[in-house]
Amino acid sequence: IEEFTSQVRNRFYIPFRGIRKLDIAHMKQYYNEHHNFPESFKKVLSDASNDSIFESIYFSPQDQDHCIDSDYPIHVFNSVNKEFEPVDEVSELVCDGMGLARSRMKVLIDDYRWNNKVTFDTHRSMTLSMINLTDQEVIGHLTFVVNRDYLVNDFLSNKLKKKFSPTTETGVVLWLRDFMIDEILAVSDDDEKFRRDLIDINQRFPDMLDNWVLHAKIIDSPTIAASNASLTRNLIVLGMAVFALSGALIFMFITARRERELAQRQAGFLANVTHELKTPLAAMQAAGENLADGRVTDPNRLKTYGNHIYNETIRLRKMIEKLLDIARIDSGQNMVQITPQNIDELTEFYHQNHYNYVTGKGYRFELEIEPGLPQAMADPDHFETIIGNLVDNAVKYSPNTKRITLKVKKMGDYVALIVRDRGLGIPAKAKKQIFEKFYRYEDSMTAKTKGHGLGLSIVKNLVELNKGKIDVISEVNEGTTFIVKFPMCETIENGDRQREIHHEYVNEELESSADYVK
Ligand code: ADP
Repeated sequence: IEEFTSQVRNRFYIPFRGIRKLDIAHMKQYYNEHHNFPESFKKVLSDASNDSIFESIYFSPQDQDHCIDSDYPIHVFNSVNKEFEPVDEVSELVCDGMGLARSRMKVLIDDYRWNNKVTFDTHRSMTLSMINLTDQEVIGHLTFVVNRDYLVNDFLSNKLKKKFSPTTETGVVLWLRDFMIDEILAVSDDDEKFRRDLIDINQRFPDMLDNWVLHAKIIDSPTIAASNASLTRNLIVLGMAVFALSGALIFMFITARRERELAQRQAGFLANVTHELKTPLAAMQAAGENLADGRVTDPNRLKTYGNHIYNETIRLRKMIEKLLDIARIDSGQNMVQITPQNIDELTEFYHQNHYNYVTGKGYRFELEIEPGLPQAMADPDHFETIIGNLVDNAVKYSPNTKRITLKVKKMGDYVALIVRDRGLGIPAKAKKQIFEKFYRYEDSMTAKTKGHGLGLSIVKNLVELNKGKIDVISEVNEGTTFIVKFPMCETIENGDRQREIHHEYVNEELESSADYVK
């Protein structure tokens, strides 16, 4: 659009090509002698007067300003005989143009380096001031009256259409507007109505046509629309690729971190388990040796040695059982035999069998059973491992308030086993991880207990094999409650309903369990 305005300006200069080469000093001398210009310049003026863009040409020497002193004549160019002829009267328009050029040159002349200077009076006239660079003086002014009708309706109108039509291809509509009189003079596309709020670009003409402005509206031509669409498409694809890539990177990062943590825990576990296997064996070996030698005869000491061997064997057996459990789970060889069970009876049986063991360690070991409980589906061997691990943990992690409660109650469509202690509790940040293999939450208190981070991982796996659920509610220094739910016999037959109901009840259960902890 800016280039377009330069082309319009150049249109006025067509007859004046080569004017820079003219010897203005010589022309001054010639004019003084002949009251006319040399043939070469008359040719230029003749071309200009034949050009439709100019209506007439006037000349006034610098020292004879007709517009100030009407005694001086002013000369009009006669295109027929190519002579300047004096006239007494000229229109205001000519004087305005010349006056502008005169005052402008007054300011510029001292430093001016070219032999002519063009001054436009808006769209009305163009005045060419002729400069004699030898004496650094202006010799006179030629005013070319502009043919507005041709300029607007012929030249600009056609040029706008030629350069910016069809709109569907160029993607732009241009209006030429005179803002002094608020009138649209020309438009690149006659079908487009001018509206001020549609304008995207405004462009003025350089040093000319002062009251006129070009307004441009950018519209989506099919080419532009297509390129915009393809840009949008590319951006979407790029966005998706970046998203997928970041997703993959995050995933890789998380997996790598998990793997590293697991490897670290596994290494720790190996060192630990080796030590734990050797300790009871060494203790049993020493006690066995002493007994075999026949050196110990005192019945009390015999009993101590026997107890020692018995306890160590139990520890060893538990550890081996855990290792076997985890190996079975890992290899997917865990056989499940889910049959209808009375969870309350299994719990009561466990409670009876381990009562002495738990109370022997100084704990209150309570049992609360809701009457009239329905049967639930479970593998009894698994049930024993689950309750065993949870009670073992309750014992391990409640060194101060020694009270453990087993509770069996109905929760929605499940029969729940609740194992509650009033011990150390589990910090919120560790809660998510306690069911992971080899994870142990280590602080100064739990560090005193022995363990390998396998118990809860085994429990969770077995609960899932039994189609049950496990939740934990815990507060540090208040205690921990594990809730293991086994599906009731009727519900297992109606799997879908069971899933729905689980969602409904899960909040209720957690709330009631929270009350229970308090
Ligand atoms: P281990 O007891 O051998 O460390 P578990 O898998 O049984 O492994 O338990 C994992 C972690 O969960 C334990 O290290 C402990 O920090 C925490 N935890 C488990 N049960 C309890 C509980 N009843 N009270 C407090 N913390 C517990």
